[in-house]
Amino acid sequence: MVLYRKYRSQTLDELIGQQTAKNSLLSAFKAQKLAHAYLFCGPRGTGKTSTARILAKMVNCEAKEGVIPCNRCDACLSITQGTNMDVIEMDAASNRGIEDIRNLKDTIKLAASSLKKKVYIIDEVHMLSGDAFNALLKTLEEPPSHVIFILATTEVQKIPATILSRVTRIDFKQATVTEAAELIKKAAALEEIEIDEEAVLTLAKKAGGSFRDAIKFLDQLSSFKKIDSKIVLEGLGSGDFSQTLNLLKSISLKKSSDVLDKLNEQIQTGINIKELTLSLLDSLRQILYIKNGLGERFVKAENSEEKYQQLCDIAASFETDQVVFIINNIQTSLEQARYTSIPILPLEIALVESCGVEKQVRSDKQSLRSDDLQQETESQKVRELVEQQVGEPEIADTQTLQDSDNPDSSDLQKIAERWNYILETVKAYNFSLEALMRSSKILECGESSVVVEVPYAFHQRILESAKSRDLLESVFSDILGRQIKVATALGKRPVQREEVSNIEVAADDEIVRIAAEIFNSETIN
Ligand SMILES: [Zn+2]
Repeated sequence: MVLYRKYRSQTLDELIGQQTAKNSLLSAFKAQKLAHAYLFCGPRGTGKTSTARILAKMVNCEAKEGVIPCNRCDACLSITQGTNMDVIEMDAASNRGIEDIRNLKDTIKLAASSLKKKVYIIDEVHMLSGDAFNALLKTLEEPPSHVIFILATTEVQKIPATILSRVTRIDFKQATVTEAAELIKKAAALEEIEIDEEAVLTLAKKAGGSFRDAIKFLDQLSSFKKIDSKIVLEGLGSGDFSQTLNLLKSISLKKSSDVLDKLNEQIQTGINIKELTLSLLDSLRQILYIKNGLGERFVKAENSEEKYQQLCDIAASFETDQVVFIINNIQTSLEQARYTSIPILPLEIALVESCGVEKQVRSDKQSLRSDDLQQETESQKVRELVEQQVGEPEIADTQTLQDSDNPDSSDLQKIAERWNYILETVKAYNFSLEALMRSSKILECGESSVVVEVPYAFHQRILESAKSRDLLESVFSDILGRQIKVATALGKRPVQREEVSNIEVAADDEIVRIAAEIFNSETIN
């Protein structure tokens, strides 16, 4: 079972962080003043859908006293399992979701069949357009009393004012490192995974404010029964903190040859350059906070005691304007890395230049000493090298340039290169989905979406189930390094029946049920 589903909060109390959201829902519930339509806004992975399901259980729980929802009565259990027909989850990003919303006005009149209230949960509601929004608006204008709407969005600025004026808005915040750490610790304890404090914090930071990612990372490492920060760094391909720190020390001592030497050492161990760059930036950012007297408030909680002390020590050897200069330099190298055929070169230049930073920042106050001159020559040499690289692209470079101008082709290539990895990852969680992916192809790849072409309509329905989409979206997001939505398209049916039998063999209840449903309805028609 995917850990994230397993550790979804089941009561408001279990929800970590989100105090404002919790308070306003709880007080409205106790006063029996829940709104008929809510809009949950906030970044991905912050608990919007989990809270929507909790709310669906709260209004339908059969328990008379004690904790509501009880998570034990029939209503609660069926909602948790996702089998209750009166809790309708739609994904506005999928074709099916849009169809469902268009049909809303017909289905909404029907009373709930087993629950007190029918709950419509519409995820990614900002993806709706035109008549789907209008259909939704009509139902929000005069909602039947047996219905509650919970709309969720990551992009509230895209929601029309007409909708906003008819819903009660609840905001969800990004997870803080401390909150994400709390969740990781809880899940690790329940999974009987031993994980040290340092590793928890590294994972939590890496999650960048998403509870879902925090648990996803833990999940990726869950084959280890004991996790330390070394496993985390290797498993997630991040730079090692002590090595990052060593690099920064060499920079503070202005030893550019040491910097190049250490950089080389790290590259030999197979570290990903982008990860290394990001971990340098992360440490420098923390140093910047420390330099500005905010270390105790913001940096301490995100690090172990030892690490925090090391950061403070290194911070003492830099001036604030030096730190800013180095950060800017490294940022620029991230950009340049896209256009050079020696990927490490821009970072090398940025770090060598950073060694001469005092001179650059204070050139008006100081005259050049001879060792400064020496450094000047070194960084000049490297700079000339990169200018050759960037300025006069050879054929191979032109290709790279074209690719990065057109995200579609380079992204498609990225996916193609890692197709086996995608299949393996999917297979680990969902055997039958992997079989299905084998018979599908990637049709297009946009800034925020990947379109998967499948041969059969029931393939499409399986892919568009929340379970499959969650999994595929997190895999594609990982590979492309940005948030990706999965959409589906129906292609030509293949002649051979092989793929179909793959699906039928798969022992997945949901798939068998959907397949049977489709085949039966096709037979009847
Ligand atoms: Zn209950």
